[in-house]
Amino acid sequence: MIPKFVADVMLGSLSRWLRLFGFDTLYSNTYSDTELLRISRQEGRILLTKDRQLSKSKLLMDVLFIHSEKLEDQLKEVMLYLKIRGFEIPKQTLRCPLCNGEMVTLNKEEISLSDVPEYVAFNNEIFYQCRECKKVYWHGSHAKKIEEMRKRILTGMN
Ligand SMILES: [Zn+2]
Repeated sequence: MIPKFVADVMLGSLSRWLRLFGFDTLYSNTYSDTELLRISRQEGRILLTKDRQLSKSKLLMDVLFIHSEKLEDQLKEVMLYLKIRGFEIPKQTLRCPLCNGEMVTLNKEEISLSDVPEYVAFNNEIFYQCRECKKVYWHGSHAKKIEEMRKRILTGMN
């Protein structure tokens, strides 16, 4: 089973990266502790938090207290926790880093050319569009960065 997350206000970067890794991750910088607890319980999401007090709440069923301040180490903490718990890590399904929406793969003919810069349309055949906010992504240096991060984090995990 692939787990879902909800993250507290301190963990914006970690949330974006978990989405890029394919995890359904809710994040808002306006969630209160009460909301975090409610979402975690009602939707069966693992709460990721840097708040020691909150992480000890008796109301929580699943929570991971994040120790590190560094993004890469935070990602490692999450992956290690998943491994110990026997959860699955998505193979590649990307989620929109901005809004957590699912992405669909599109060919060049299927995108609106006003959505991407001309040189990008010229140099790419495959695009990804967020089902929710409609933002269009493509394979560029960014994709390479994501792939490298995935490798660094997941190497030695299996
Ligand atoms: Zn989106």
